Amino acid sequence: MIMAETIAQVRQSVLEWKKAGKSVGFVPTMGCLHDGHMSLIRKAREENDYAVVSIFVNPTQFGPGEDFQKYPRDLERDSEMCRAVGVDLLFAPPAGEMYPEPGLTHVDVDKISSGLCGDFRPGHFRGVATVVCKLFNIVRADRAYFGEKDAQQLRVIRRMVRDLNIPVEIIGLPTVREKDGLAMSSRNTYLSGAERQAALVLVNSLRRAEELIRNGERAADKIAGAIREIIQREPLAALDYVAVVESETLAPLEELAGEVLVALAVRIGKTRLIDNMAFKI
Ligand code: AMP
Repeated sequence: MIMAETIAQVRQSVLEWKKAGKSVGFVPTMGCLHDGHMSLIRKAREENDYAVVSIFVNPTQFGPGEDFQKYPRDLERDSEMCRAVGVDLLFAPPAGEMYPEPGLTHVDVDKISSGLCGDFRPGHFRGVATVVCKLFNIVRADRAYFGEKDAQQLRVIRRMVRDLNIPVEIIGLPTVREKDGLAMSSRNTYLSGAERQAALVLVNSLRRAEELIRNGERAADKIAGAIREIIQREPLAALDYVAVVESETLAPLEELAGEVLVALAVRIGKTRLIDNMAFKI
């Protein structure tokens, strides 16, 4: 496995592979890898001749007072995991390589960057879209792999790629969960024992929504209300939002129809967690 810290190293390897007519799959991450990341990486390995993973805790997608400083970092463990699964190149640049000077150019994906997490994390999706655009220009992959866990992020990136004609195919993969249903997340490492238990309200409330929908409930406010009630019953949990939206545009729905996304963000103590489920009505 090639360990690259510079853009030039990445470009050189990818150029060689491309010259040989080989395909490249790319998985951008912030590290502290878990099975959710690994499912993307395995898919990238399977579907391409070469697999590239990036690990970069991108400062521009964190707001003031968010967890940029304390975000878990363990490059040694991450690189072992990447090596074990057959990653060809791991790109882990220092911040100065990605941002030698503050950027004056940003990617803003209107509309779908607002609502849901966009309302609680101003500037977050601008930071994400900009860094992912930079990474796409550096790696020039044929395919890039993202998790449905970050549903809004995935939609923002799909739209950016479409609007800006970026020559990469975006592949979204299902959320990987712990045995008890908690969506895997690097931020789960922040949770105390009691908080880890309390964090189950996210998946449990979504499962309640699933049950209501299966039983024929089509009123979005009833679905959102049921979720809110379950979150409120957990003393360690505080709801940021619950959204019942059209899956692609993220436009709010009154009546469930077509492709529907039910998404929520909940603070468990100081840790902010997100989860979602998609339904075809
Ligand atoms: P992160 O390192 O949290 O920025 O995530 C990197 C990629 O892994 C993103 O595309 C995430 O959506 C994806 N990801 C994170 N958690 C999961 C999960 N539990 N299941 C599937 N994909 C995930």
